[in-house]
Amino acid sequence: MLSIRGRRCVITGGSRGIGLAIAKLFAFKEANCTLIGRHEESLEKAVQSLCSKPLQSHKWLAFDVSDPKGWEELMQNKKSNPIDILVNAAGISQNSFLMNTPEAELDKILDVNLKGTILGCKSVILPMMKRKTGCIINISSLLATHGGRGASVYAASKAGIIGLTRSLAWEVGRFNVRANVIQPGYIHTDMTKGMNKDGDLAALIPMGRLGEATEVAEAALFLATNKYAHNCVLNIDGGLSAT
Ligand code: NDP
Repeated sequence: MLSIRGRRCVITGGSRGIGLAIAKLFAFKEANCTLIGRHEESLEKAVQSLCSKPLQSHKWLAFDVSDPKGWEELMQNKKSNPIDILVNAAGISQNSFLMNTPEAELDKILDVNLKGTILGCKSVILPMMKRKTGCIINISSLLATHGGRGASVYAASKAGIIGLTRSLAWEVGRFNVRANVIQPGYIHTDMTKGMNKDGDLAALIPMGRLGEATEVAEAALFLATNKYAHNCVLNIDGGLSAT
C-alpha cells in the first residue's frame, strides 16, 4: 500500500462538498493539498479547515477549470513542486429537460465537467509520465451510465469522463501513472440540497439513504494508495447501480 504522506495533491472542486471531503481526508493522512475552485474566499476558508501538521503546507488557486490559462498558471506554480495526485471533482449539475436547456447552459456543463477534467488530465500527465509516478482520480456520476430525468447533458459530460479515463489509462499505465474514476450515487452536498424531499429519493436507494461526502473520500483514498488500482470505475452509491 502506498502512503500519501508528503504527497502533493491537487483537488478541483476543493472548496466544498466531495472535493473538500477528499482534501480533508488526504490532509489528515498528511498529504499536501492545493485546492481549486472559483472563489478565493471559500477556498481560503476550506484550506483553513484542513488538518495541518508542521511539515504540511496547503494552498489554493482560484480559477475556472474550463479555462486552459488557469491550468497553465497552476503548472507554472508546480514546476519545482510536481503534482503526485490530481483529483478532478469540480462539477456543476443540470436541472432541465434537454428540450428546455439553452445552448449556453449546455456549453457550460460540458465545459466545466468534461473539458475541465480533460484539461486537468492533459496538464499533469507528461510531468507524471516523466517522473514515472502519478495518480489521477476523476469524479464521474452514477447518472453517466444510468441516466436520469433532467440530467441529459450532465450525464453525457460524466459519461465522457469515463471514456476519457479509460483511454488515458491505456496511454499512461506503462509509465506507472494510474487513472481511475469514482461514480458516486446521490451524496449529501450542496448539489443535492432539496432533492430528498420527504425521503422520496432515499426510498429508491437499496441502503435507504443518501451517501456522505466522506464516504466518497474514503474511495478516493483507496484509489490513491492501491498501487495496482488502474482503469477502475468505482461505484459508491448505496447499491443504486445494481437496481
Ligand atoms: P458541490 O456543488 O457541493 O461542489 C462543486 C465544487 O465544484 C465546488 O467546489 C465548486 O467550487 C467547484 N466548481 C464548480 N464549477 C467550477 C468551475 N467552473 N471551476 C472550478 N471549480 C468549480 O458538488 P459536489 O461536491 O456534490 O460534487 C463534486 C463532484 O461530484 C462533481 O463533479 C459532481 O458532478 C460529482 N457528483 C456529485 C454527486 C452528488 O450527489 N453530490 C453525485 C455524483 C457525482 P466554487 O463554486 O467555489 O467555485
